[in-house]
Amino acid sequence: MYIYNSASHRKEEFVPVDPSLVKMYTCGPTVYHFAHIGNLRSYIMEDVLEKYLRFLGYNVKRVMNITDVGHLSSDADTGEDKMLKGAKREHKSVMEIAQYYTDAFFDDCKKLNIKRPDVVEPATNCIEEYIKIITKLLDDGYAYQAGGNVYFDTSKLDHYYIFNDHNEEDLAVGVREGVEADANKRNKNDFVLWFTKSKFEDQALKWDSPWGVGYPGWHIECSCISMKHLGENLDIHCGGVDNAFPHHTNEIAQSESYLGHKWTKYWVHVAHLNTLDGKMSKSKGEFLTVSLLEEKGYDPIAYRFFCLQSHYRKNLVFTWKNLDNAQTAFEKLIGRIANLKPDDGAVDEAARKEYREKFIAQMDNDINTPNGVTVIYDVLKAQTNDATKRAMLADIDSVLSLDLLQKADALREKNARAAATQSAEFTVIAEDGAPDAAVETLIRQRAEAKKAKSFAEADRIRDELRAQGVELTDIPNGAKWKRV
Ligand code: AMP
Ligand code: ZN
Repeated sequence: MYIYNSASHRKEEFVPVDPSLVKMYTCGPTVYHFAHIGNLRSYIMEDVLEKYLRFLGYNVKRVMNITDVGHLSSDADTGEDKMLKGAKREHKSVMEIAQYYTDAFFDDCKKLNIKRPDVVEPATNCIEEYIKIITKLLDDGYAYQAGGNVYFDTSKLDHYYIFNDHNEEDLAVGVREGVEADANKRNKNDFVLWFTKSKFEDQALKWDSPWGVGYPGWHIECSCISMKHLGENLDIHCGGVDNAFPHHTNEIAQSESYLGHKWTKYWVHVAHLNTLDGKMSKSKGEFLTVSLLEEKGYDPIAYRFFCLQSHYRKNLVFTWKNLDNAQTAFEKLIGRIANLKPDDGAVDEAARKEYREKFIAQMDNDINTPNGVTVIYDVLKAQTNDATKRAMLADIDSVLSLDLLQKADALREKNARAAATQSAEFTVIAEDGAPDAAVETLIRQRAEAKKAKSFAEADRIRDELRAQGVELTDIPNGAKWKRV
C-alpha cells in the first residue's frame, strides 16, 4: 500500500515498524460541544484507513485520546479553555460536559459506522504520565520555566517545521485567532507543557505538580497517551489538516526530544470539509451535526457515502444540494443491489478474488476511496452470478462500511411485504358453510369500493346486504358473512 506521508511530502510504501502489529494513533475530539460533520469527515476517513489495513491482513491497534482539558480557544496557547467555555454555556461542570459530549461523539460515530478505537483515553486520566515526560524534558534542557508555566524550547531543535508543504492558510489557523504575545516565551513557537498561570483563574480542573498546581497543555496529551499505549515507535498518526500545525508539530518536537529518536513513521492528514462560506464552525452559521442531517431526513450513511466519493487529501465543499445528490445516488445503488438474488448458486471464488484485487489496486493508491466506490458499480456489471456479486460487495463493504447488503436486504423485504399486501387474494368466507355467488359478488364490490375510497358506495352495498339478512365481519384482507 502507498500512503501520502505529510512528513516526507510524498507517497510512500507502507511498511510498518513491526509487521505483527500496526500502531495507529488518532487525535480525538475536544468534548466541549457536538462534533460537526467536518470533524466527522476526518474520523470517517481514518476509519477507512484502519479498516483497509485490517482488510490487507494487518493486526492493528488504534488509540484515541479524548481532549477534556488543556485545549484553549486558540491553538497557540491563548484564550479561554474550550471545556470551561462549554461548561459555562450549559451551566454544568466540566466533567459533566466532557461525559455528555464524549457519549454524543460515540453515538455519532455509531450512526456513521465509525469503529470505536481499541483504546480511548481521556486526557485527564494521565496527569502522572505528563509530569514524568515534562520532568525529563526539563532535565534534558528541552524545556524551561517562566512566569509560572513550563514551556518547550523550540530553539533546541534543528528542524521544528515538519509539515511545511501545507499551505500557509492551514498553518496559520492555530495562531490566527485571538493571538496575544506571551511575554514568557523565549521563541515565538515555544509552547506550554504545563500551565499554572493562566489569565483565566477560574480554570476548573487543576492538579498538583512539581511546578505548582495547574494543568497540562494540549499537545503533551497526545504524545503521552500514544506512548503509554503504543510504545516508542508509532506507525501512523492521523488527524485533520488543521492539526498539522501547531499541534502535531509540537507533538513531534516533544516526543522526539523525550525519546531521543524518531517517533512516528507516517503522518496522515485529512483535508477539510468546508461550507460555501469557508471554514466549518460550531458557533457561526448553521451548526452541521449528524442529528441535524437526521432531522432533515438524511441517512447518516449517505453522508459517509458523500465523504467516500472524494479523496481524503482534497478539500470538500458541503452543501445540502451536494448531500442530496449523494443520498439519491446512494439510494439508487441500494436499489440495484436489492435486485441481486441472495442464493442463486455457489460463489465463484476466482471471480471474487479478481474484484478484491481491483478494489485493492485503487485503495493501495493512497486510500483512493472515490475509485474504490466505482468498483462497487463494476461489481454490479460483472459477468457472474448474484451470489458472487454479493460476496464481492461484502468484501468491499468490510472497508467502506456503507451497510450495502443490510440496506439492500431490508429494502427487498420491504418491497416484498408491500407487494404481498397488494396482491394477496381477498378471501370471502361463508361462516354457515353455504357459499352464495351473488352475496360474494356484492362483498367483493364493496371491498373494491373501499379500496377506491368510495366509502358511500361501500356503505350502500353493506346496507343492501343487510337488507338481504346478511351480516358481514371484516377480517384482514377479506370478509366473513352469515345469514341472520
Ligand atoms: P477537535 O474536536 O477540534 O479537536 O477536532 C477533531 C478532529 O476534527 C481533528 O482531527 C481536526 O483536525 C478535525 N477537523 C476540524 N475541522 C475539520 C473540518 N472542517 N474538516 C475535517 N476535519 C476537521
Ligand atoms: Zn492530538
